[in-house]
Amino acid sequence: MPEPRVITFSRNVFLPLTTVCHNRCGYCCFRTSVQPGCLMAQEEVEKTLLNGAALGCTEALFTFGERPEEEPGFPEMIRAVGYATILDYCEAMCKKSIGYGILPHTNAGVLTYEEMEHLRPFNASMGLMLETTAEIPSHATSIGKSPDVRLAMMEDAGKLKIPFTTGLLLGIGETMADREDSLFAIRDLHKRYGHIQEIIIQNFCPKPGTPLERQPVPSTDEICATIRMAKDILPDDIAIQIPPNLIDAASLIPCGVDDLGGVSPLTIDYVNPEHPWPAFEELKRIVGNAVLRERLCIYPRYIERGWYHSDLQPLINRLSQTVQQRSGGP
Ligand code: SF4
Repeated sequence: MPEPRVITFSRNVFLPLTTVCHNRCGYCCFRTSVQPGCLMAQEEVEKTLLNGAALGCTEALFTFGERPEEEPGFPEMIRAVGYATILDYCEAMCKKSIGYGILPHTNAGVLTYEEMEHLRPFNASMGLMLETTAEIPSHATSIGKSPDVRLAMMEDAGKLKIPFTTGLLLGIGETMADREDSLFAIRDLHKRYGHIQEIIIQNFCPKPGTPLERQPVPSTDEICATIRMAKDILPDDIAIQIPPNLIDAASLIPCGVDDLGGVSPLTIDYVNPEHPWPAFEELKRIVGNAVLRERLCIYPRYIERGWYHSDLQPLINRLSQTVQQRSGGP
């Protein structure tokens, strides 16, 4: 009997520590300037972690604006709450997360080797969307979206042995050939460092009031073709992930999807707030005949290789057992 096909997901909470960002992407509705509410207060972070832990969440996704200190008023604001930089605040909140029994996964945009090295002991995995290797107009005012800069960070993550998530953003002005080029770039990095655990194939969703509000969105067929291309180009050990709140996930499962990413029973998708997460029962319908299995934000092979700080070991061991039991494992 062949092994049943398995589709995984991670039960998470989403913590957007700040909406302030130095980039100006043509499709973004997340970014704000420095204004009331642009920094997630520590009390709110802790409340989310406490409630997330009570709901069985295993991943704290810290995703927020890139290089906010470059924006007027932000350095003063972060200092006023007791931290020198947003990354110091992130580190402190990662420690809180570990204390609440949830593994941190940080995606703070482009970071230096030293910044990642600093955050690594408090993160089970980290991420950065490559989005595309093409130079596109919607990134013209986003210095951090330079493909070379992003690939350099992904290479540094490999040198640091950080289990890493990246992905393509479809429909932002890139061509199918650009997607192919992006996938080859990811494959080449993974060949050298072996650190890419998953790649998100994410469709952009046009937001009213943004320069790309009238941009046509990729069709399900086009997304399926991109997933198939990713399957052809990437080695089997890189999981293909799609976001089930943005996409006709059930139709795309047969195209070669392995994973449904982070799904939260508590927090919204702050990047696409108009798209609620499916309930866990709905995920079972989406995967059809496949087995739905929960995973941690660090994939099992990196746990086996010990690609994490030893201080995280007790929590990783405990949560590994938790997700195995919830998935009907031993
Ligand atoms: S980097 Fe992210 S938060 Fe910043 S402008 Fe671009 S899409 Fe928005």
